[in-house]
Amino acid sequence: MKRKIKEEIVSVGKRLYERRLNGGYGGNISVLDEGVIYITPSGVPKDELDYSEIIVMDFKGNVIEGQGKPSSEMLFHILLYKERADIKAIIHAHPPLATGFAIARHPITEAVHEEAAVLLGKVPVLPYEVTSSKELAKNVSEAFKNANAVLLANHGVITVGETLEKAFRRMEELENLCEMLLVADALGGAKKIPLKKLLKLFELMRVREGKIKI
Ligand code: 13P
Ligand code: ZN
Repeated sequence: MKRKIKEEIVSVGKRLYERRLNGGYGGNISVLDEGVIYITPSGVPKDELDYSEIIVMDFKGNVIEGQGKPSSEMLFHILLYKERADIKAIIHAHPPLATGFAIARHPITEAVHEEAAVLLGKVPVLPYEVTSSKELAKNVSEAFKNANAVLLANHGVITVGETLEKAFRRMEELENLCEMLLVADALGGAKKIPLKKLLKLFELMRVREGKIKI
């Protein structure tokens, strides 16, 4: 299996930690390549991972390569790759600001910042379901039919991408956006980008009907 992909996953795990987008034992990362899923092992802090610990598994969760247990959230990773052919990487993390929004059941429904609007679109909050459960995985796969980032109530965030870098940038952008919204709120509330100009922006970025193709 490909060492380069395992190293990319490890690198993203460290970047998530260093940028305070994830901490403790939380989160998991996967990449789909040539029909197999590279995924972080369960219960290992993402800043401490070594490339040799990354698990390679098939779509049934059978381990093809690696020693530990694959992430306990493997079910939603598998379902998302089945659901959307364009998804090649998935990050689940517990970033403090965005998770605060998830705890408050505060979805992001308005376009208030250019880059966030283009990169993220609307970000729904899914109802609370216990970690690793089938119910959680089912809700996640349903929600990603129309989203590239999702908040999990009382839990965290999932972002996807056609590359691992894109999934990471979405995670970073979402956390930044939540910070911007908190500041805007303290200063009288966020104001929307006017619809006509938002459509112009989407046109510019070749984004159509919430489908992001940048
Ligand atoms: P794993 O370590 O099993 O991937 O679980 C971490 C997590 O964040 C569960 O939601
Ligand atoms: Zn989690």
